[in-house]
Amino acid sequence: MNEVSQIFCFRSIQKFLVFGLQSLVFSLFLQGCATVYNPATGHREFIMISTGEEVEMGKSVHQSIARQYKFPDSPAKLERLRRIGQRLAKVSDRQDYTYNFYLIEDKEMNAFTTPGGNVYMYTGLLDKLTSDDQVAAVLAHEIGHCAARHTVKKFQAALGYDLISRIVLSQIGGDQAREITALSTNAVMNIVFSGYSRQDEFEADRLGVKYAYLACYDPRGSVETFKILEAGSQGPDVPLFLRSHPYLRDRIGMVEEEIRSAGQKYGPAPCGGPLGL
Ligand SMILES: [Zn+2]
Repeated sequence: MNEVSQIFCFRSIQKFLVFGLQSLVFSLFLQGCATVYNPATGHREFIMISTGEEVEMGKSVHQSIARQYKFPDSPAKLERLRRIGQRLAKVSDRQDYTYNFYLIEDKEMNAFTTPGGNVYMYTGLLDKLTSDDQVAAVLAHEIGHCAARHTVKKFQAALGYDLISRIVLSQIGGDQAREITALSTNAVMNIVFSGYSRQDEFEADRLGVKYAYLACYDPRGSVETFKILEAGSQGPDVPLFLRSHPYLRDRIGMVEEEIRSAGQKYGPAPCGGPLGL
């Protein structure tokens, strides 16, 4: 090997070692600092985005939503949504941010959640629901996605390792929001509407029953809501909520089982058990 190639090799190895060391330090840093126990799932989880960054991200995503959608001028409907949502939020396993509830003017039967505890419901879904228990079922399911950190994990995965690592290593709050702002509205909305896994949906359903029960709503509202959604999907237009929420029959079966065991799992509801469950 001549001198030039030796130097080249040495530099490559050195570069490799430095890169390897950085990766090792970075992964140790993440393991040590970013693995947090989540009471909603009962597992330690790998979260790279702090609560503060997640809230900033949520504000930025909200701006994208406000550009794309119309918020209706219906104070009574919004007040109802917020009243039910805040009652459920109080019993959520996740209390490190404030939950916000928004209504979107759209005929589709849909609801979704973004980082930072923001929950959105379409008027097309709200108008189909006939009781507070049914509205609570949808909101409790979405709060379940927040508490289980499904939403932030979805954004974390979509934003990619490189962006997240730069944010974590720089340790500067607010970078996340600027990066998100730099994304197009379409890119943000694609992440918002990318579906959750079947496992995440079941988990959000399970947590939805828990929160409805603990907030003294009738958790059977979730079964009623599934049936309303199913009936709404008979026509040519399958609601988006169903497209991203598959396995409806399986989910109804699982939710019915969760309702039967709610008293046993969570103890008597604070209101004395609305159903004697
Ligand atoms: Zn869901």
